[in-house]
Amino acid sequence: MEPRGTKRRAEKTEVAEPPNSLPHAAPSLPTKPALYSGPFPFYRRPSELGCFSLDSQRQYHGDARALRYYSPPPTNGPGLNFDLRDGYPDRYHPRDEEVREGLDHLLRWLLEHRDQLEGGPGWLAGAVVTWRGHLTKLLITPYEQQEGWQLAASRFQGTLYLSEVETPAARAQRLARPPLLRQLMYMGYKFEQYMCADKPGGSPDPSGEVNTNVAFCSVLRSRLGSYPLLFSGEVDCMAPRAASTQPPTCYVELKTSKELHSPGQWRAFYRHKLLKWWAQSFLPGIPHVVAGFRNPEGFVRSLRTFPTMEMFEHVRNDRHGWSPSVCVNFCAAFLSFAQSTVVQDDPRLVHLFSWEPGGPVTVSVHRDAPYAFLPTWYVEAMTADLPSPSKTTSPKD
Ligand code: GDP
Ligand code: MG
Repeated sequence: MEPRGTKRRAEKTEVAEPPNSLPHAAPSLPTKPALYSGPFPFYRRPSELGCFSLDSQRQYHGDARALRYYSPPPTNGPGLNFDLRDGYPDRYHPRDEEVREGLDHLLRWLLEHRDQLEGGPGWLAGAVVTWRGHLTKLLITPYEQQEGWQLAASRFQGTLYLSEVETPAARAQRLARPPLLRQLMYMGYKFEQYMCADKPGGSPDPSGEVNTNVAFCSVLRSRLGSYPLLFSGEVDCMAPRAASTQPPTCYVELKTSKELHSPGQWRAFYRHKLLKWWAQSFLPGIPHVVAGFRNPEGFVRSLRTFPTMEMFEHVRNDRHGWSPSVCVNFCAAFLSFAQSTVVQDDPRLVHLFSWEPGGPVTVSVHRDAPYAFLPTWYVEAMTADLPSPSKTTSPKD
């Protein structure tokens, strides 16, 4: 079912045309949860098309070398005591967040695998290509009250590419990130190090460095309603002894959270944090999130597994809870809105979708820098693939 709000078709917006001179109001998409409360739409069971790794220098490798293996401590008893502050800041190599990678790593994977994509000829031309993290932001939008987002969209050879743009507010926040928040981010990665081994059946080695350049990314295929999706997401680890060893169902997402005591604290956790955890793991079909609960001193003393498909149960009877169908219906409505707004096939043209809490999603149109995000190497390699019209129609041939 199409939720209300998706039917308004975007008028074709002309570049550099002042909105006032358009015959109709500029198109926008509302985000209120009540508008998206229909039945859960179709979401194809995600399948893994491939993977890639980024090394400690952030260099791309078309293999699973950065994949780690879930290796929890033998018991969840009183012995558990992970010091998440250990190694901070001396054994911390944070990724350079000034480097804007856009979709580049995913595009490299796509370029190298475009001839082997399943789904038949033309599948890619009908697909949306993006990062999992961008889709997560779309899913939680109807409930988000703090942070807005901007998504740049370009159509190229039919495919719709979506790449996030850091908002000025997000950039300001990142540059002014308080020291305690920096340490908290480290602690999340440190938890992964306590829980993962480099080899199946191996043991974690918390003596090493935490280098957040390193990433293992799974590339997945799915479909939301009538929109085929190709997206990639960073995966924390795989469980070598999972019931299924087949990706993505063998993957495990690791999270940390403050220790919770009162029923009120649990309620708030279910309403806010579990929504984000659900959205992130639902998209790639990762069935389990393992949480480490840290005490005020930064030690994890208990673990709890949250099956992704059971997270909603914690808010099902909560008037202030969230609904998976609202999230997924909104995402489908956004894809419909974007597909009908971005009509012109041009890798240098960008429709910038902007959203701030409390308002609708709005659109502006831009050409080239700074918003165009499909790199020349990608556009040229993909264009070289096509039969050249000058050759095929030349009278000399
Ligand atoms: P997530 O779901 O938000 O963790 O993001 P994805 O799994 O979709 O990750 C997509 C790519 O963005 C991967 O290469 C990640 O390493 C990278 N990435 C994830 N989070 C961040 C971030 O906060 N900052 C930057 N610069 N890159 C990130
Ligand atoms: Mg994680």
